[in-house]
Amino acid sequence: MVSAEKEKLELPLVSELMIPSEKVAHVQVGNPLEHALLVLVKSGYSAVPVLDPNYKFRGIISKTKILEETLGIEQFELNRLSEIQVSEIMEKNTPCLKKDDHMIDALHKLIDHPFVCVAADNGEFDGIVTRRTILKQFSKHYHETLKRAY
Ligand code: AMP
Repeated sequence: MVSAEKEKLELPLVSELMIPSEKVAHVQVGNPLEHALLVLVKSGYSAVPVLDPNYKFRGIISKTKILEETLGIEQFELNRLSEIQVSEIMEKNTPCLKKDDHMIDALHKLIDHPFVCVAADNGEFDGIVTRRTILKQFSKHYHETLKRAY
């Protein structure tokens, strides 16, 4: 087997790296922006997944997007926070992973995103993989490889 393929098999699967859905802060598609902002501010995250009532992954909502949406010509129009629903402004074209993808697949997607959602073929939300987790894994793998080499 080519060594790149062998390396890939030694690396963990997404299912072993992800933060499971029950530990992930999320909002619902039908929530008003004020609820989403509350979740984002209270959790300290800059973005969280958006799910539908059947726990299917629908997109991502961020503090930046909410602030952009409420900024009027000269000032913030805070009344818009209760008028607009998360589904109207969430980012829908985000990459996704599957539980049986390899860590390398996660690495490629995490280059441009701080976290990537994991969902089943039917859309059911399984969790997220973060850049932090992948960097920690690579650091571990790097040191183990160094130890084996010397
Ligand atoms: P980290 O790499 O741990 O800094 O996480 C990167 C991003 O992933 C955070 O800014 C959040 O947007 C998201 N994130 C991490 N952990 C969680 C969680 N438990 N619930 C929701 N979002 C999370």
